[in-house]
Amino acid sequence: MNCLLCNAPLNYRLSILDLVRLAPLPFPIICSKCAKSFTKIDPAAACPGCSRPQSSNHLCPECQRWTQQYGWHLHHTALYTYNEAMKEFMRRYKFQGDYRLRQVFQGVFCRQVQSYHADLIIPIPVTATTMATRGFNQVLGLLGQTTVTNVLNHRAQDKVAQSCKTRQQRLATPQPFRLTDPTVVRDKKVLLVDDIYTTGRTLYHAANLVKQAGCREILSLSLAR
Ligand SMILES: [Zn+2]
Ligand SMILES: [Zn+2]
Repeated sequence: MNCLLCNAPLNYRLSILDLVRLAPLPFPIICSKCAKSFTKIDPAAACPGCSRPQSSNHLCPECQRWTQQYGWHLHHTALYTYNEAMKEFMRRYKFQGDYRLRQVFQGVFCRQVQSYHADLIIPIPVTATTMATRGFNQVLGLLGQTTVTNVLNHRAQDKVAQSCKTRQQRLATPQPFRLTDPTVVRDKKVLLVDDIYTTGRTLYHAANLVKQAGCREILSLSLAR
């Protein structure tokens, strides 16, 4: 076995059991040096709205603005900071489309998802254009065997990918989603899942639809922020 990121040899031997089991692999699939390059976010030292690392646990100014706009704010958890190592990881996973890399964070991500005991786990979808070029939804890759409810759809084709927009353009993006069946979320505890929290715009659009459809509770999770 070699590290999935830097190819350094790992001193773990695969058993037949490991090969046939469908669950995330139980051993490290990246080396300790690569693992150390990622920075975990401590929820006790982060904004309770968006998981931004900060010294206090008060709502950050951005989340205060969202609260003014919507009358509520997200309760978002991000597991890691979007540092250089995470940017490089996302570049290879999403933009070069190396689907094997979903395994790097699948275990830690799925454990976090399970800890919420949500009724519905709703992934943020990718556009048809992205699906055609990338061939996979990176969020579903992170979720592995988790049962998800694909009830969010893109309304119309947004010609410009979020990742190509400036911060101001992202914030001005109109509602891109629709719920294929709003009754599915009624009275449910919903977990929205995305890969990266950037401005919050995408998740607020999605959460707003789910709240309007009458969910009981809504939480959100991303790998990075
Ligand atoms: Zn490595
Ligand atoms: Zn915040």
